[in-house]
Amino acid sequence: MAKKPKQIIVDPKLCKGCLICISVCPHGVLKKADEVDNRGFFLPVVVDLEACKVCRLCEMECPDFAICVVE
Ligand code: SF4
Ligand code: SF4
Repeated sequence: MAKKPKQIIVDPKLCKGCLICISVCPHGVLKKADEVDNRGFFLPVVVDLEACKVCRLCEMECPDFAICVVE
């Protein structure tokens, strides 16, 4: 059976807003936030959780271990 994500968590303390996770996601699950956070970073936000195939590329490519896909 295909894997399904329950939740995608971005740790706002670890994420530096590099947006690598958005560029590596093959399914358009993430997008850049419309506004900066309190440190001035645009964090990734989940726009299409249903499209996520739990490939974990975002987790693997994140340099700060800031994103976590919960199955
Ligand atoms: S790759 Fe990691 S640090 Fe970069 S924006 Fe995504 S979650 Fe944040
Ligand atoms: S696990 Fe794969 S499909 Fe899901 S958000 Fe990360 S890169 Fe995209």
